[in-house]
Amino acid sequence: MQKISKLAVLTSGGDAPGMNPCIRAVVRTAIYNGLNVVGVKQGYKGLIENDMYDMNKRSVSNILNLGGTILKTARCLEFRTDEGMETAYQNLKAQGIDALVVIGGDGTFTGALRFSKKYPDIQIIGVPGTIDNDLYGSTYTLGFDTATNTVIEAIDKIRDTADAHDRLFFIEVMGRDSGAIALRAGISCGAEAILLPEVETAIADLIASIKTGHLNKKSSSIVIVAEGDKHGGVYDIAKMVEKEVEHYDIKVTILGHLQRGGSPSSFDRILGSRLGFAAVNALIAGETQHMVGLRANEIVLTSLEEALTSHEFKLEDDLMQMAHILSI
Ligand code: ATP
Repeated sequence: MQKISKLAVLTSGGDAPGMNPCIRAVVRTAIYNGLNVVGVKQGYKGLIENDMYDMNKRSVSNILNLGGTILKTARCLEFRTDEGMETAYQNLKAQGIDALVVIGGDGTFTGALRFSKKYPDIQIIGVPGTIDNDLYGSTYTLGFDTATNTVIEAIDKIRDTADAHDRLFFIEVMGRDSGAIALRAGISCGAEAILLPEVETAIADLIASIKTGHLNKKSSSIVIVAEGDKHGGVYDIAKMVEKEVEHYDIKVTILGHLQRGGSPSSFDRILGSRLGFAAVNALIAGETQHMVGLRANEIVLTSLEEALTSHEFKLEDDLMQMAHILSI
């Protein structure tokens, strides 16, 4: 087993609250274990452009409460090419870096795995950081809890005005391929319907359920639409329903990027700290091409290969069943 001496940490793909607590944990755990640490700016772009800096304990002071990522993040097309990867490798070697912690989503892990297979002398551990909560190998990903809380706070406010005016609100939340935020926010806010990318929604059923709600004397209705719903955008869905439902004034709200921001919740601060700590310990133990995750409140390692190819990840059955029953 090679003994690592210098590791680099980067954040890549979409930013997620909890990345900063994770960076802090990586830096301080590494220093505690006598390793040197380098921060890479803007994900894989920083590896290619050699945009890295030495970090010390104070580099990560007062960041636990910050959303976003102090290292910045980027989507980097060049890293998908062999030339881009070679440049990144040469820059890492020139700095004497022998281990990498990558915090990001499935795209980030795909890049990490390809890179690690080409250059196995650089050990790599991934940390699941994406608000979408759509990675196999960890029940929760960094940022999901904070983003869901942000969505809930916004929908509670919309409910107040919806109720005052007998309105039907269609609210679009993030999740192109994953309805995780939509489902949890929907249950937490008592949404009358939740449209998810994982489920084919019949618009006729949606209209019938809104009409039934009105007959049952509901004074407002909230329909949450995950952005990846198969019927197109939230405006298209609202238009289809508007033709059939006369008793409500219909409004549309797209929550957009506010869902990514904000101070990480207690859960994401702890999760980021646990996963960052675990990532460095895994590297010291000689692990590579794995991700750290949380399952049944235990830290577990899953190979990146398995994390990327397994399709077992799905929304919880009981949440799916209760979503409708609890909102009647
Ligand atoms: P999120 O879930 O928030 O979108 P992500 O990590 O999936 O996060 P992506 O933009 O898909 O975000 O991927 C991040 C970066 O990973 C890309 O910009 C690119 O640099 C790298 N990457 C993605 N796929 C590959 C690939 N096939 N080969 C090499 N690098 C890749």
